[in-house]
Amino acid sequence: MNRVTKAEQYLLDKIRRGNTQAWSEFVDRYRGRLLSFAQAKLHQSADAEDAVQETFIAFVKSLQNYRGECALETYLFALLRRKIIDTYRSRQSKHVCLIQDTYESQSDDKVLDPFADFAGPAQTASWYVKADEKYELQKHTLTDALSELVDGFKSSLNFRDLQITELLFYCHLSNKDVAKIMGLKEKAIALIKHRSLKQIRKRIEASRIPIGPSSEDFENLMTDVWKLQRFSCPKRSTIGAYVLGTLDSEWHRYVDFHVNTVGCRFCMANLQDLRDQNVEKQSKRLQARIMESTAGFLKKPL
Ligand SMILES: [Zn+2]
Repeated sequence: MNRVTKAEQYLLDKIRRGNTQAWSEFVDRYRGRLLSFAQAKLHQSADAEDAVQETFIAFVKSLQNYRGECALETYLFALLRRKIIDTYRSRQSKHVCLIQDTYESQSDDKVLDPFADFAGPAQTASWYVKADEKYELQKHTLTDALSELVDGFKSSLNFRDLQITELLFYCHLSNKDVAKIMGLKEKAIALIKHRSLKQIRKRIEASRIPIGPSSEDFENLMTDVWKLQRFSCPKRSTIGAYVLGTLDSEWHRYVDFHVNTVGCRFCMANLQDLRDQNVEKQSKRLQARIMESTAGFLKKPL
């Protein structure tokens, strides 16, 4: 079914022939609504403008593929949504854990098919607003479910499963990469992932908040929430004890893993800060010791 009006078709034909005037008219018509949408999602206006610009570039590039199977606006929103997801992903891998820079999780979405993960072509601006409200509710429930999961691992000193879920959900790595890092079989990782997801979903179902059918969206949401709540990050006082070497060996190993293997940037910053403080304390102590032991000599007349 063709959802493009005659006027739009006329404009598109002109654009396909390379008419700059028609293209400028087109950009002018859609730029504003796309930018508002991007700003609401990305909060940083430079990023939002970049996403909109890239949306128009993607539109021109894929103009031959557009057959009017959905309204133009819907098509543009779909392209923009892709760009926003890309922006989130690049923020993620640059800003949270060093290990994400080493291991490639997934980058299979370079094909210009904005509908690849869409159930139907009916998503418009109002669909996104509704989706956003649902997203907030999901975030709250997921926060409770994940914190319960992680607390369970900690209180039973099950650091292996804590490390695995952290690599899966906080660092968003694939089962294969996690297996490699942990020195376990991929099957074992899949099993632990399945068990954790089952517990989380059970908790969510109890609260009767619907979670979308796409598991990729769900896992992106988990990473967002984990990053925000930092469920597995040790407390600053625990990192302090790690620096002094006074932690139990199991906890010591876990903090070591979190900071050195995962490379959590938040905790690395804390560790560095605490080490600096420690060095300063040590050098002050040495200073005091030297001053004390030399004081007597200093008073002696030459
Ligand atoms: Zn951390």
